Amino acid sequence: MRIGIDLGGTKIEGIALDDTGIELFRQRISTPQHDYAATLDAICDLVQLIEHHCGKKGSIGIGIPGAISPTTAKIKNANSTWLIGQAIQQDLEARLSRPVRIANDANCFAVSEATDGAGRDANIVFGVIIGTGTGAGICIERQALAGCNAIAGEWGHNPLPWPHESELPGRRCYCGKQGCIETWLSGPGFTRWYQKTGGQAQNPQEIIKQAAQGNMLAEKALQEYEDRLARSLATVINILDPDIIILGGGMGNISRLYENVPRQWAQYIFSEHIDTQLLPPTHGDSSGVRGAAWLWPKKNRT
Ligand SMILES: [Zn+2]
Repeated sequence: MRIGIDLGGTKIEGIALDDTGIELFRQRISTPQHDYAATLDAICDLVQLIEHHCGKKGSIGIGIPGAISPTTAKIKNANSTWLIGQAIQQDLEARLSRPVRIANDANCFAVSEATDGAGRDANIVFGVIIGTGTGAGICIERQALAGCNAIAGEWGHNPLPWPHESELPGRRCYCGKQGCIETWLSGPGFTRWYQKTGGQAQNPQEIIKQAAQGNMLAEKALQEYEDRLARSLATVINILDPDIIILGGGMGNISRLYENVPRQWAQYIFSEHIDTQLLPPTHGDSSGVRGAAWLWPKKNRT
């Protein structure tokens, strides 16, 4: 049995999978705020609850915001700031008396889809999560690629490629730079652009609804969004050349992106023929927690 834990800023989700990927149990609890010791307790209680319910022990994989620093073995780059600087792997292994595998939550998303989702037959999967932020994980042969600085796939903090004059210098990002991809492609970034072009403050779902109803301003903002996403993914394809790109998070629910973005990206990619596919996640919102469980991969794929 594999146990996956998704440690989010507001909730912690736990899942148990059998060897074929069938879900045995799932539970969701609130994340204790600004309290590391209570967060550890909550994770251990959740593992205990799952194992009690299933009547057996499991391997444990955990998806976290941020990453484990290869130099200090402590958490870095987490938006749940009370986790930063904590040796979470060491602390959990001591409490749970077994090895624990930990990866960035976007990496877990990519692992899930590469294991038994939309990328299951692909060698290279780029798993993108666009919601309030813009993250991504890379899977090669169904294994997450961490990278020597543990930032592989952190594509949201590169600048928007092939910028138009109207897109320069770009908004200041919380990372300290200006014009990051995240400031354009995140849900709040899309809303900000729509407002800037004269639209009313709306959440992205509302703007998309208006575009579908024939609102020209909303349609134009969405077409510009599609072009920015196409440019941003074209640079990924030019470097990584993935078989499949999977689009998760709130913005991944916009169905027209799967047709329009690949049509747009052709003009930016350095190849006359492009086989890379853009697909929605098979496991939807469950991919993060499933991928955490799959950090202990199948020995033989079925
Ligand atoms: Zn940034």
